Amino acid sequence: MKTILIALVTLCFCQVVGGQVRQLPGEQIYRRLHVEAFSHGSENAYYPTLVQEKLEWIRVESFAGRLIIIHAERFSNASASTIMASDITVDGKKRIVVSLESIRVSSATLTTKELKTHYALAMTHEAIHFEAYETIRLGRKATPNQRVNEEVRTWHRWIIGAVRPLLQTGHKMSPGLKEVNEVLKRCGDDARCVEFVMEINMRTVQLK
Ligand SMILES: [Zn+2]
Repeated sequence: MKTILIALVTLCFCQVVGGQVRQLPGEQIYRRLHVEAFSHGSENAYYPTLVQEKLEWIRVESFAGRLIIIHAERFSNASASTIMASDITVDGKKRIVVSLESIRVSSATLTTKELKTHYALAMTHEAIHFEAYETIRLGRKATPNQRVNEEVRTWHRWIIGAVRPLLQTGHKMSPGLKEVNEVLKRCGDDARCVEFVMEINMRTVQLK
């Protein structure tokens, strides 16, 4: 439970494995979750503005065929709680892969709303990464510095625009995310702050 949201850190540079596999355990939960998380209904009005904007961006990109979302059983090089990974395909499309294993694990401990928020936050994190298209396209060829810089940039934007507003409205969040938020506040929200960079570096150690 503690590491569920923290595992989001490994989202972007994980090697994508598998692909679309049918009739896997967790697939039904995933399909329902995806529809609920992306619903335009008033039940999702509590999403912070950044989350709303990024989910809309994902809808538009998906509809235009520039972004694909697939699911896989699990990631070979990440923990079971890592819910998503993303990369750029050989033909230049943005791709997000969702781990069914992670959804099964998360659904056992989170309420329906918490799981939906978890999913929407993860999608938001990925969408922020895609702002740095050229860096993400490098994938495993990116240098350790490029990886850390990209994570610091994404986490900074993500914590301020998505995580913090949810914390402020009393949304239940993993202790790890609360910690990162506190570190950033101590840093005066400066992404260049050594303590913040070290915190993100520590949390992205799996990427190296
Ligand atoms: Zn990331």
